[in-house]
Amino acid sequence: MFIVALKGLRNKPRLAGKVRLVKIHVVSHPLLTHKLTVLRDENTNSPTFRQLTEEIVTLLAYEATREVITEKVTVKTPVANANGEVLAKPRPVVVPILRAGLGMLEGMTRLIPTAEVGFLGMIRDHDTLQPSTYANRLPDDLTGRQCYILDPMLATGGTLIAAMKYLIDKGARDITAITILAAPEGIAALESAFANNDFPITVVTGALDQKLNEKGYIVPGLGDAGDRLYGVVR
Ligand code: URA
Repeated sequence: MFIVALKGLRNKPRLAGKVRLVKIHVVSHPLLTHKLTVLRDENTNSPTFRQLTEEIVTLLAYEATREVITEKVTVKTPVANANGEVLAKPRPVVVPILRAGLGMLEGMTRLIPTAEVGFLGMIRDHDTLQPSTYANRLPDDLTGRQCYILDPMLATGGTLIAAMKYLIDKGARDITAITILAAPEGIAALESAFANNDFPITVVTGALDQKLNEKGYIVPGLGDAGDRLYGVVR
């Protein structure tokens, strides 16, 4: 497993001469830690949980977009010309994984309001833990697009791997997943799934937790993210 503090996200990290294809960035900031701690608390209610999720995602997105593509422009201030940079076109594509990733969308679009938003509906079978796609709305061709997947929990990695493969099949080669928490098992699964990639993928997360329990929940985690965001659907 290769974990770095943030800086230079797409510098090709090398270990023993090997290019790492899955780059994991655990964001470290006292405000993020504070918000994550309140988020984890089982006494935190859904409205507060939703609000905190948005705030946490904005902090994570700030780090995850350090290498968003810009283009040089010159604008005229009231005083003189100023050289600057604006987001390049086509805009980044943000892909929340339904249902829980939807709770992260507002926090992401607050930072990049002009991003295009696609959706991927994936559900994990509670017994087999295998993901399947039940809905999608994405551009047919993602060649050359920067894609940001939103999924709060990197647990077994099954959903994220399936989502990444889906984007890769549509031509995406610049993929960053933003997760609130990650488990070592999920990271290992990503590394194994993308071991033969010819391009790196990046995961930006708020914390790396201890492990998964026998039901596939992250420990200590925060429980079922979808249920905590939106309540239990029966
Ligand atoms: N999905 C969740 O919502 N929580 C977990 O702990 C693992 C997967």
